[in-house]
Amino acid sequence: MLKDQDRIFTNIYGMHDRTLAGARARGHWDGTDKIIKKGRDWIVEEMKASGLRGRGGAGFPTGLKWSFMPKESDGRPAYLVVNADESEPGTCKDREILRHDPHTLIEGCLLASFAMGAHTAYIYVRGEFIREREALQAAVDECYDAGLLGKNAAKSGWDFDLYVHHGAGAYICGEETALLESLEGKKGMPRMKPPFPAGAGLYGCPTTVNNVESIAVAPTILRRGAGWFSSFGRPNNTGTKLFAISGHVNTPCVVEEEMSIPFEELIEKHAGGIRGGWDNLKAVIPGGSSVPVLPAHIAREAIMDFDWLREQRSGLGTAAVIVMDQSVDIVKAIWRLSAFYKHESCGQCTPCREGTGWMMRLMERLVRGEAELEEIDMLLDVTKQVEGHTICALGDAAAWPIQGLMRHFRDEVEERIRARSSSGRAVAAE
Ligand code: SF4
Repeated sequence: MLKDQDRIFTNIYGMHDRTLAGARARGHWDGTDKIIKKGRDWIVEEMKASGLRGRGGAGFPTGLKWSFMPKESDGRPAYLVVNADESEPGTCKDREILRHDPHTLIEGCLLASFAMGAHTAYIYVRGEFIREREALQAAVDECYDAGLLGKNAAKSGWDFDLYVHHGAGAYICGEETALLESLEGKKGMPRMKPPFPAGAGLYGCPTTVNNVESIAVAPTILRRGAGWFSSFGRPNNTGTKLFAISGHVNTPCVVEEEMSIPFEELIEKHAGGIRGGWDNLKAVIPGGSSVPVLPAHIAREAIMDFDWLREQRSGLGTAAVIVMDQSVDIVKAIWRLSAFYKHESCGQCTPCREGTGWMMRLMERLVRGEAELEEIDMLLDVTKQVEGHTICALGDAAAWPIQGLMRHFRDEVEERIRARSSSGRAVAAE
């Protein structure tokens, strides 16, 4: 279990002073100028050595991503954009950083921007996060007053401006290129890639988009060293991580833990165990709504990291752990996700626009058992035609929960169809 002295987020529950004075007392903003004076290359190499993989879901190595930014400007400015759009069902970790520990993020923005040659950064906050945005803006204002942002930020010699931008509440704006479109004042619709944002991102300039947690952990990594951070977790899955545990556990929570912690330990130590005991566990979505569901027997063996969960054809995603006990109608639960993705599709590409609707409507019939058995394979075929054939990953996100359902709970789906058709025959015979 992670020791208190190794926690990066020291105020994640809002029990302490979240102002600049409080953050400084807990060790944040300590020697920021000295880190910057070590130079851009040192910061990027240290981040690479720490093994940090992006905390927004995809798990791409953060230091490597930073290194894609041009070393020399061709005259265009460079930008850091922080994705605080956190809208994936089940995911609620970044909001705790925004409202209770905002200085971890602001200091991270300065360091990351310097490492990428950016004098300006934007934090794009989810539309529904009103109080979070207010808390963050208050913290940004404090930093300007204290000289930590603006000209010669934190006496580092680097000029740096940070803007908080409030979204309007569309899930798709969490997709990095849709977020950039929205930030530019356009409709939040994903762009085709390439070009990738590091080449042409915000206003056509080199841009890196990072998740809140990825940026907020950077200052502590740089202060305590890559070796310290990489001592947690398994190789290729290093560091500490915020887990957001929801659903049928006794005490749902957001908690910072070591990466690669066993699922059972995570739930027992922090979430008070499964409601009704371990035998009552039915299924777990381990990384936010877009990753495939796992049945209880696999979930109980789970090591909570990118590689282990990928090997089980699921994923760590944002580490939003959704626990479901035996009371759950698993077909209906997955239908609900299908309805969500259908609603949030931006409509730009046909497989997603049409496919999410088809998938949702067929799932709706499966919930009631009003389908033919052959339609299960037809549905899986539709998921395959959507997956990988769209501009952005929303298509995949809509397909994977259904694939997970059929992989592990097909019997239950078939049983429902059979029960329905036999009761139909019985009624007809009367
Ligand atoms: Fe829009 Fe869906 Fe295409 Fe993404 S996959 S660009 S959400 S239509």
